[in-house]
Amino acid sequence: MSQARSPILLTPGPLTTSDKTRAAMLRDWGSWDSDFNQITARIRQQVLRIVHGEATHECVPLQGSGTFSVEAAIGTIVPRDGHVLVPNNGAYCQRIAKICKVLGRRVTLIDYTEDKQVQPADVDRVLAADPSITHVALVHCETGAGVLNPLHEIALAVEKHGRGLIVDAMSSFGAIEIDARKTPFDAVVAASGKCLEGVPGMGFVIIRRSTLEKCEGNCHSLAMDLYDQWVYMGKTTQWRFTPPTHVVAALDEAITQYVEEGGLEARGGRYARNCKTLIAGLAALGVRSYLDPAIQAPIIVTFHAPDDPKYDFKTFYQEVKKRGYILYPGKLTQVETFRVGCMGHFGDAGIPGAVAAVADTLKAMGIKQQVTDVATTA
Ligand SMILES: *Cc1c(COP(=O)(O)O)cnc(C)c1O
Repeated sequence: MSQARSPILLTPGPLTTSDKTRAAMLRDWGSWDSDFNQITARIRQQVLRIVHGEATHECVPLQGSGTFSVEAAIGTIVPRDGHVLVPNNGAYCQRIAKICKVLGRRVTLIDYTEDKQVQPADVDRVLAADPSITHVALVHCETGAGVLNPLHEIALAVEKHGRGLIVDAMSSFGAIEIDARKTPFDAVVAASGKCLEGVPGMGFVIIRRSTLEKCEGNCHSLAMDLYDQWVYMGKTTQWRFTPPTHVVAALDEAITQYVEEGGLEARGGRYARNCKTLIAGLAALGVRSYLDPAIQAPIIVTFHAPDDPKYDFKTFYQEVKKRGYILYPGKLTQVETFRVGCMGHFGDAGIPGAVAAVADTLKAMGIKQQVTDVATTA
């Protein structure tokens, strides 16, 4: 289906991909084939380059959705008697805590509300008080509410205490800077179908080489063992088990376009413009964003649901969809919200078009728009 006819996905992934990226999937590859394995090698190299980790880190790809790679990273890097500290300001942090519990790794949380950033001083204090903690697992952009956590400062605190750091950078990788030369980390986890604008189906974990070398035998699982995947790939150039060949080919093409666009700066800049246009556009309709702009990541924005008895998310969603845009439900426990993503391959008209679709929908649903602030200042 051509892009003109499929709706624009304003979601945290899968997201709208380019025609070229989808076209890269229109052929079949043998997993033993050297042409295919060169594609894998190229992706691993390009991914390392994005974080400037060529000298220090290894990129280990893994089949599956992003969570598979988070689980694999924890299972591979944290020893079975390890202890993980999870600063928790949302749903994806809680998922990491759950992974630790399922894998039988001891876990401790520092709880925040969903509208607050993780504080490096808290991490510092908890690590100082509890020497049994071996690793910190941090979500960089907490996609639940859209908060950007201060990765660099937290990484320095973790390094100061000599502990390991595993970063879920799923929704920030490629758009928000992570520089392995400045920010110390043991692992950064990301996936094909987020800011690199590939299709979903594989993740990758960027692991410090000296850490990875010591991970043999940690993992509870055969298929999720990143050490084993790394060793096998090093020996054979191949994936250990059937690779998602079409996803790999699409990611390679998506990364080519990423580089052509201007890399991280251009990608992050485009998402930041989308984010600004979106928040301003919906504010003019009386729809308020949830977070303090100072901690808002330019990735996904949470909005308060209109305060009107005629509003319900399902109808709102369907009406906006009819107009060509897919939104996302909120993921907050306390307040009624919906979310709109800023990432994906759509032109400059994408966000203004989505704002117009929301305006039209609110009107069709008979929802009163609280534009008092804007009206009095205009
Ligand atoms: C998307 C995402 C994931 C992975 O989710 P999957 O549904 O498994 O792909 C993990 N963490 C964060 C922060 C994410 O945004």
